[in-house]
Amino acid sequence: MTSVVLEEIPDRITLALEISNCQGNCVGCHSPFLRSDIGEELTPDVVDALIADNFGVNCFLLLGEGNDLQALLGIARHLRERHPRIETALYSGRESVSEQEIWDLFDYVKTGPYKAECGPLNSRTTNQRLYHHGEDITSRFWHRGIDPAASKA
Ligand code: SF4
Repeated sequence: MTSVVLEEIPDRITLALEISNCQGNCVGCHSPFLRSDIGEELTPDVVDALIADNFGVNCFLLLGEGNDLQALLGIARHLRERHPRIETALYSGRESVSEQEIWDLFDYVKTGPYKAECGPLNSRTTNQRLYHHGEDITSRFWHRGIDPAASKA
């Protein structure tokens, strides 16, 4: 599924795509259907068509890594080469991302599996982190959500 979103990446108009074949195993997974091999293959042509159909977006976000790293990196390279004005973003469900190519090819990288008890990015108790060129910008979400710690005060 694709959608244009404003909340996932700060100050960006983001075209977000859910990526299936998730290799994660989050307890309380919010999207179990993404663990299956479903949907249309994401190719450079599909990327071009989506961008043409969503004029004005300035960030392209992959919600998940799937099960084919080289294909994922190929999509990011294509975006860099053919759509240099559009930033690239990846939501990884992994605790940490060690592949340097991912950090090089994606402007934004989100790490951390989904843990319901910790909350999403806009909770100060979240275990997840959003990085922009390696800088942790997670705190930019914290004015948007309910802060469980503050609400107890
Ligand atoms: S990263 Fe975790 S929450 Fe997201 S689809 Fe995969 S298992 Fe579910």
